[in-house]
Amino acid sequence: MRLSALPPLALYVHIPWCVRKCPYCDFNSHERAGGLPENAYVEKLLLDLESHLPSVWGRRLTSVFIGGGTPSLFSPESIDALLSGVRARLPLEPDAEITLEANPGTVEAARFRGFRQAGVNRISIGVQSFDDGMLRALGRIHGADEARRAIEAALAAFDNVNIDLMYGLPGQSEAMARADITEASRAGVPHVSAYQLTIEPNTVFWSKPPALPDHDASADMQLMVEEVLAQAGFQHYETSAFAKPGMRCRHNLNYWEFGDYLGIGAGAHGKISFPDRITRHERAKQPAVYLESDSSIENRVIPPAELPFEFMLNALRLVDGFPPMLFQERTGLTLASLQTELARADTKGLLERDWQRIRPTERGRHFLNELLEVFLVRAAQ
Ligand code: SF4
Repeated sequence: MRLSALPPLALYVHIPWCVRKCPYCDFNSHERAGGLPENAYVEKLLLDLESHLPSVWGRRLTSVFIGGGTPSLFSPESIDALLSGVRARLPLEPDAEITLEANPGTVEAARFRGFRQAGVNRISIGVQSFDDGMLRALGRIHGADEARRAIEAALAAFDNVNIDLMYGLPGQSEAMARADITEASRAGVPHVSAYQLTIEPNTVFWSKPPALPDHDASADMQLMVEEVLAQAGFQHYETSAFAKPGMRCRHNLNYWEFGDYLGIGAGAHGKISFPDRITRHERAKQPAVYLESDSSIENRVIPPAELPFEFMLNALRLVDGFPPMLFQERTGLTLASLQTELARADTKGLLERDWQRIRPTERGRHFLNELLEVFLVRAAQ
């Protein structure tokens, strides 16, 4: 494979602590015990970034995403030190999108203003539901009113705000899910991410599963979510992402378009392209181990046979799919080499294509795993 040009470059920063671990959460998040080592962690993040610099020389960052965990547990001063340190080491595009994830119960107006002054220009709030009973069932630390206050405070300081919402919750009826998504659609935010709750291994819910709505009820909720948000003027652009025109998340779009990203922080991973190879890197997951480990990078070259699946895993999440040329630009492989798989997906009614776009059909969107399996076969060979 050979790339004619390198893709856009983003930066993901992982802050791994939360007030309490939610029973459904399989992210690399750890219940905080006492104070957080903010200064030491920011210093380590910047060392981590420095260790990546030789692989991205001369490139500029198009976006930064500070995720977790609960990054809003860090003070605005620490976020300022982090972003100043990033800028001193890697140039940012002048209009770079800089997102910070925040959880209700850990933010108030002054804190949001501080994040804004530090250079953050987009906030993503983990609301999950506006129903106190659902929030308790999810083990969240906040109630519905705290979520509403957090949204109001975020909108006072930022134009660009996302709220995360979940449906298919324990004991949730369609009417309850509708009330949640309707409130989200009227909250004044330009972006909503709506996820179906899934039970993941290594979570409390995995060992003690709650009673969830059945498959058909959850599928109906998904259609209802899409309908309510469409009526409210949100464009559905990725499996779980909905945005008002012009407000799509550029950082996440870069993942879905198989762009490059550096990952720094405990458990963070990244993908970097070179003219003749594409590599992945990953950091130690435990915060204490990460803080003490050296920052030498272990890069794994992605075998070219795995690239089609990796590309499709991301790009086919996009409702509008991708332009055919993007596949070659990002993987260095020709689309002609995938004709058998594309034809199989066509025959199954999972994919549609013309000279401008290759996109999942509605059936392909709703049975995305079946569509992806078509491309997995080659990676396994
Ligand atoms: S707040 Fe988010 S990251 Fe933290 S434990 Fe809950 S779901 Fe996981």
